[in-house]
Amino acid sequence: MSKPLPQPNAVTQRFWSGCRDGHFEFQSCGKCGHHQFPPRLTCTACHAAELDWRRSSRRGAVYSFTVVHRAPLDSFKADVPYVIAIVALEEGVRAMMNVRGTDPASVSIGMPVEIFFEPTDGGEYPLPQARRRG
Ligand SMILES: [Zn+2]
Repeated sequence: MSKPLPQPNAVTQRFWSGCRDGHFEFQSCGKCGHHQFPPRLTCTACHAAELDWRRSSRRGAVYSFTVVHRAPLDSFKADVPYVIAIVALEEGVRAMMNVRGTDPASVSIGMPVEIFFEPTDGGEYPLPQARRRG
């Protein structure tokens, strides 16, 4: 069994295309200026549909995290233990992703990270992942 792959839809296609091009993009409301992620049809602050896309610096910090020791699917067994984190980006949005390349025991809240893009096995779109920065 392989790992699940991104399944873009009308609302998320722009985001996944951005990942393919090496950009992490989020939505910015043209009416109230609210920044949001994940992508939605309307602004979660004022419900306006005038949403623009902005490119993140890909810099942020670990907001919260957990270490997974028991794989949810057989295809994740080789990865345990691994870190699932909520990363707070400089632009004020938060996104869930893995933290790679770091001993899970050394990950901490507030740790500076940057997003990079990890190819998937047979998938069209790479996954945004975090790694220690600085
Ligand atoms: Zn708004």
